Amino acid sequence: MQERHPAGVNASATALELSADPLGMPADEMRRLGHLVVDRVIDHLESLERLAPVEAGDGRELRAALGGPAPQLPGDAEESLELLADLALVQMQHVSHPRYLARVPGPASFAAILGDWMATGFNGIAASWGGGAGPTTVELVALGWLREALGLDARTEGILLSGGSMASLVALATARRTVGHGTVYLTDQAHSCIPRALRTLGYADDRIRIVPTDADLRLDVAALEELVAADPEATIVVATAGSTNTGTVDPLAAVADVAERHGLWLHVDGAYGAPAAIAGAPELADLHRADSLAVDPHKWLFQPYDAGVLYVRRPGALERAFALDAEYLTDVTSDDEPDLRDRTPELSRRARAVKLWLTFRAYGVEGLRRAIAGGISLAEYAEDAIRATPGLRVVTPARHGVVTLAVDGASHAEHLAIGRALEAEGTAALTTTTLHGTSVMRLCTINPRATESDIDAVLEAIVLHYRG
Ligand SMILES: *Cc1c(COP(=O)(O)O)cnc(C)c1O
Repeated sequence: MQERHPAGVNASATALELSADPLGMPADEMRRLGHLVVDRVIDHLESLERLAPVEAGDGRELRAALGGPAPQLPGDAEESLELLADLALVQMQHVSHPRYLARVPGPASFAAILGDWMATGFNGIAASWGGGAGPTTVELVALGWLREALGLDARTEGILLSGGSMASLVALATARRTVGHGTVYLTDQAHSCIPRALRTLGYADDRIRIVPTDADLRLDVAALEELVAADPEATIVVATAGSTNTGTVDPLAAVADVAERHGLWLHVDGAYGAPAAIAGAPELADLHRADSLAVDPHKWLFQPYDAGVLYVRRPGALERAFALDAEYLTDVTSDDEPDLRDRTPELSRRARAVKLWLTFRAYGVEGLRRAIAGGISLAEYAEDAIRATPGLRVVTPARHGVVTLAVDGASHAEHLAIGRALEAEGTAALTTTTLHGTSVMRLCTINPRATESDIDAVLEAIVLHYRG
């Protein structure tokens, strides 16, 4: 066997054998590649509008360029970074694009991107106090700032998760732990992640009960009252604060009254709409009455993926549901400071709050308020513009950044075809959906970079495509 030599001695040795640390990289090289990443990201953000809101991908081309056999020997990191920036990260929906008005845009702010980069670079972990006092403090502080901005009670506890689906899953697990299994009430406008979370938790279909909605698609409180009064096993009611379809907020105060009267846990899914409370939306004034609340910072709080917040108003309920007790964690367990691993089913968890904390510091609550209010106003502008456009009509008015419309005489298939054509030609991305059987096209206008002329251009293109 050939003897190993110190670095540089054996010229024929591979790079792997030469370095004491097979994954090491000289500092100069790290700087050069790091700056390249920064430049490529900022070039992308600056030229975003020259891309289509959705750049479709060709599976064969993607696999050919990105796949192949696993590289056995070290390769050129720079070339691979360029490939990511030129191809892999271009062929997708550009949720920060001003004419991406589909589903829920994700207009990440640059301060938040910087925060995430920093947290990743330092490999921050927020699992225990002993193992991450700094990141834990950042998370608790950021959750506290957001809690205050949303008008929640001071004793409300929070935790960051990967998104709204996980926040609601963890909320429902916490609720069940607190009030028992029983039956759960929600409307057909609740996000599909809610029934999925319930199924994941072992709820049989007949334990998931649908409450009717009124003409405005809001939870019908009288119907809820009647249903739970007749159901001694009722334990949880889920209300939506900003439905994905129409931005509709269920009557939170009235639902909270019913929940209180019958001892139910009230979970509010505000994954989309809760941030509208920061802009003073009156229908969200009673968010603080929720026992648990899901909010998605990667939607209307301008964070890059992923970030979901869960708030629980009952102190200690999260820890009673999730506290972890492992012998090998004793030396990173704190007696008087929180170990965040005890509030979530996760143990190792990234320092997700750094981006949110930096967002508050960089823009202030006032910056967020203005950005959110701008999205609400832009939907109101779109509503007026739809009304003023012959051939289009408003189906549901602007509600918390969402407006739906229909083209006069168009079928659902025609709405879908218009949407696909706009997406294919790169004009806009929007969503086609149905509201109790009525086909609509839907605009979600929460991107602070979207303007009134973006809306005008989209409406014009819709009319053009229908006539053409
Ligand atoms: C987006 C959304 C969800 C799901 O959130 P994810 O972050 O995608 O998991 C849940 N509820 C509502 C109302 C949403 O808009």
